[in-house]
Amino acid sequence: MELAKNIAVAPGIQVIVRDWLNANHVLIRGNAESVVIDTGYGAHAQQTLALICAEDALGSRRLDRVVNTHCHSDHMGGNAALARAFGCPVSLPEYAARLVDAWDTRELLLDYADQQAERFSYADTIAANDRLRLGDLEWQALAAPGHDMTALMFYQPEHRVLVSGDALWERGFGLIEPVDRLEERLAAQRATLERIDELEIAAVIPGHGAPFRAADKALAEAFRRLAAYEADPLKLARHCLKSFFMFALLARRSMKRRELPGYFERVLCYREYNAQFFRRPAGELAEMVTGELLRSGAVIEHDGTLAPASS
Ligand SMILES: [Zn+2]
Repeated sequence: MELAKNIAVAPGIQVIVRDWLNANHVLIRGNAESVVIDTGYGAHAQQTLALICAEDALGSRRLDRVVNTHCHSDHMGGNAALARAFGCPVSLPEYAARLVDAWDTRELLLDYADQQAERFSYADTIAANDRLRLGDLEWQALAAPGHDMTALMFYQPEHRVLVSGDALWERGFGLIEPVDRLEERLAAQRATLERIDELEIAAVIPGHGAPFRAADKALAEAFRRLAAYEADPLKLARHCLKSFFMFALLARRSMKRRELPGYFERVLCYREYNAQFFRRPAGELAEMVTGELLRSGAVIEHDGTLAPASS
C-alpha cells in the first residue's frame, strides 16, 4: 500500500494526498454533510474507499456527495465504488457530464491512452461561477479549461483555499494535449492561470502532490512551462507520451520491453501522436519514450522488464 498522507488544510477541509495514478481526495466535513472531491483511479478503488473511511478521515460519518474537478481516470475512477458503498450522488462539471453521458473514451482519455474506469451515473452538474455549499462552507466553482477543457476548480473565500485539480500543481500542471486545438488549449490554460492569479490564496490543494501555500511561486513556474510548450509543441508531444506511458506503467506495474513495439502500435494515443509529430516505426517511438524515462530515472529495467522506479 502506498503511503497516503492525511493533511488538515483549514477547518472542515482536509486532503488525502495520494500519488500520480490516484488524484488526491479532498474531504470536506461539516455538520450537515461530508463531501469528497475526486476519487482516484478505478483499479485502486478499494484502497480509496479504505482511506476515505479511515478514522482520521470520514470515521463513522457517511459520505453524502462525490464531486469531480474533471473526468480523467485518475480523478473519477473511484466514483462508481464510492457511490455504491454510500448510495451517495455524484456531481460533475456540466461539460464533463456530456463526455460521461456519451462515455467518450477518446476525450476521457480511457482506452485512447490505455486507461480504465468503471462507468458511473451522476445526479447533477455544476457550472462555472456556480456558488455551492459543500460541508458547512460556501464554495465558488471556477472554469479551469486547458489541461481538460471541461474542468472546474473550487474556491473557498473565507479560508482562501483553492482546490485546483490539474490546473495548477506546485510544479506545473496536467498535460496539455497537442494533437488538436493546441492553440485553444494553451490559451485556455493561460487564462486559467491568470484567473488563479487574481484570487487571494492561503492554500492550494492540487490534484497531485501535497497542498502548498506559495501560489505565486507555483504560478510563476506554471507560466514558465506554458511558454516553453507554446514555443515547442514537439517537446510538449514528447512530454505527453512520457506521461501516458508512465501512467500505464504505474497501473500495470511492469511491462516487457519486447512487447513495447506492439503496444505502441496498438494504443491509439501513440499512433496518433506518431502520425502527427514523430513519423517513425512504433519500435523507435517506444525506444524514444522509454529511453528518456530510463535516463531520467523514472523507470528502471531489470531482465528485459520495465517498472516504475517508485514502486
Ligand atoms: Zn487530469
